[in-house]
Amino acid sequence: MQAKPNNYLRENLAEVRRNIERAAKKVSRNPNEIKLIAVSKTHPTEILRSAVEAGASVFGENKVQEAESKILEIGRETVEWHLIGHLQSNKARKAVKLFDCIQTLDSVELAIKLERICIEEERENLSVLAQVDLANEATKSGVSEKDLPYLIKFLQTCECLKFKGLMIIPPFFEDAEKVRPFFQRLREIRDEILPNGELSMGMSHDFEVAVEEGATLVRIGTAIFGERQPKV
Ligand SMILES: *Cc1c(COP(=O)(O)O)cnc(C)c1O
Repeated sequence: MQAKPNNYLRENLAEVRRNIERAAKKVSRNPNEIKLIAVSKTHPTEILRSAVEAGASVFGENKVQEAESKILEIGRETVEWHLIGHLQSNKARKAVKLFDCIQTLDSVELAIKLERICIEEERENLSVLAQVDLANEATKSGVSEKDLPYLIKFLQTCECLKFKGLMIIPPFFEDAEKVRPFFQRLREIRDEILPNGELSMGMSHDFEVAVEEGATLVRIGTAIFGERQPKV
């Protein structure tokens, strides 16, 4: 059955793309270098189907369990799925089977486990980003800048895990300008360790700043789908 195209999704996607383009032009970047990840957490599969019809091609989900049914229903032929939430070790196997990219790799232990599972499951290519915590926020996941080199060193020895770049969830500031230093620092680190690597940064309220600072993946939920659905 065909889902009805949702006009508001089409309009929101178009507006976000226009804003990405404007921010890119401002700093003379090619807007085509920036991939839009539609963060679909809490929204039901029908809405995701409409988003696919409206042109979304990459989804971001933050919980393995919640993503599973959506991925199984929509499939992986036409869309890509990124895990953007913390990955618990006991969900690692499921995540390996479901996702195209794990953006939240935050420890050597988790990397060891993912690599082992990839070998067991004969998954030859799993893209991963290292999630970096630049604010030393104890409540958040992410590898510290100090521990990042160890993680990267290990990733360079992996056969299956493909290290693609860095991701950050900076502290929340109402004023997006206050987030700019975090984006700038992440970019500097990326330039040192993986010059053409991905930079996953920017959400609905600060993606223009992130694009100005070099984001190659922006993770946008609310500006596409509207407010998140309450838990049922
Ligand atoms: C929910 C979420 C987003 C999207 O947030 P919006 O403000 O709705 O755009 C982006 N990144 C991560 C890691 C998230 O958990």
